[in-house]
Amino acid sequence: MKDPWNNRDTAQTEMKRRIKEDIPEEKWQAIVSNDADYDFRFFYGVSTTGIFCRPSCKSRPPNKENVRIFQHAEEALAARFRPCKRCKPTGEKLPDQEWVNQITDYIDRHFRDKLSLEHLADVCHGSPFHLQRTFKRVQGISPVEYIQRKRIQEAKHLLAHTDQSITEIAAGVGNSNVPYFITLFKKMTGQTPLEFRQIWQHGAALEVQTYEYEHDHGKQN
Ligand SMILES: [Zn+2]
Repeated sequence: MKDPWNNRDTAQTEMKRRIKEDIPEEKWQAIVSNDADYDFRFFYGVSTTGIFCRPSCKSRPPNKENVRIFQHAEEALAARFRPCKRCKPTGEKLPDQEWVNQITDYIDRHFRDKLSLEHLADVCHGSPFHLQRTFKRVQGISPVEYIQRKRIQEAKHLLAHTDQSITEIAAGVGNSNVPYFITLFKKMTGQTPLEFRQIWQHGAALEVQTYEYEHDHGKQN
């Protein structure tokens, strides 16, 4: 004899199992760890409360089986979920500081590549004009100046600690135009790359000599 209640239980269990499997592990981890990197890349609703959140929401972690994933806030609203008062998944734009942190992070990882303002704006989801203005207001320098600083910093390190040629170093830090690289280097450090290397290596050699002398003869004082 068939028990209709039993059938319903089976159907519910089946549905829960299916929903559970539908949440990719990456998204589930983002929810559990309140990962702000995933904000606005998806939203999650909790069927028991009828509320939906950003992944970074600090509210109590939901039961996985009650979670529904939405690509857009509008989808969650259409499914009759209410926006969370705490993380405001609909009402708030990404704060400028957070956005500039994302841009800075991207530059730090990619300054050795060819980088244009258009490319930055493209990968960081904004217009070139807006990106330029916001970055400068938050960081105090333009994105281009920031990229140049990173490149010259890296070039100084390579000049001091490797025997790579100027051409190699220029290309290695994303400035394949060597005359331009030399001009920029001089403008920012007061020395040409070659002068910097000579002074640095001379200084390092002096230190070694002094050390060896003191080591061999003992310090006088
Ligand atoms: Zn929330």
